Amino acid sequence: MRIHGFILVLFLSSLLLMGCQPFDSFFTTENAVQREAIDVPKSIEERTSEKVLFSLEVEIDEHIAEIDEETDTVVVSNPDSIEVMVNKQRRLPEGYEPTDLVDPNVSHAVGQGDPRRLMRAEAAEALESLFAHAESEGLELVAVSGYRSYDRQKVIYENNVAARGQEHADQFSARPGTSEHQTGLAMDISAASVALALDQAFEQTSEGSWVAEHAHLHGFILRYPDGKTDITGYAYEPWHFRYVGEELATEIYEKDLTLEEYFGYGY
Ligand SMILES: [Zn+2]
Repeated sequence: MRIHGFILVLFLSSLLLMGCQPFDSFFTTENAVQREAIDVPKSIEERTSEKVLFSLEVEIDEHIAEIDEETDTVVVSNPDSIEVMVNKQRRLPEGYEPTDLVDPNVSHAVGQGDPRRLMRAEAAEALESLFAHAESEGLELVAVSGYRSYDRQKVIYENNVAARGQEHADQFSARPGTSEHQTGLAMDISAASVALALDQAFEQTSEGSWVAEHAHLHGFILRYPDGKTDITGYAYEPWHFRYVGEELATEIYEKDLTLEEYFGYGY
């Protein structure tokens, strides 16, 4: 299912007369929220005339609650959706916490009580079926790192800023809200044959190559594929899997896409 809002914003002379807003102020948070409420124009012809000073096509995602110009990010309005797209430009609302985190019954790298074991209920169930499938093929996957809280990410980021400056922090740690692990829908997976490492070596293992080809059958996608860094903002991560549901995962797998390409959000 493709959920994709597309609104053509036209700067009509009449609008300018009504609003007399300078160009910059049009892109304030307030206006962004207002734009969301505007229906797709019924007829472009209707609104396009000799009076048009200029027009601008803006792709607007239906799932944006707010634009934060200071950090050049947008805040998503659907953090609880299993199709939520979070990346370096699209972040979760401040303090967001999933309400249905559970501990999937699979092999874990970390001990009981560690929040990194957790995933949202639907994703956890899918992880169990993925791991059981692997086991039936004689492969043992290990869940290394799942949920990470907003507060924990905030501490990590702020410590980095304090110690080495903002530029360094932005390069090497995610701003709070921008890590997919905070959705409770992501799990870093590894195997004993590479000592549970989260690195490129996992791809070469039989577990790594198997999970890359079978994760979609259980609703997971390889979130940061090789050669898509410009699109996802992340280097290849053969260990990072994201639950999106079986239908979407299968389509993304078969068409060799990323979430960004699938939704076409070029905010
Ligand atoms: Zn990860």
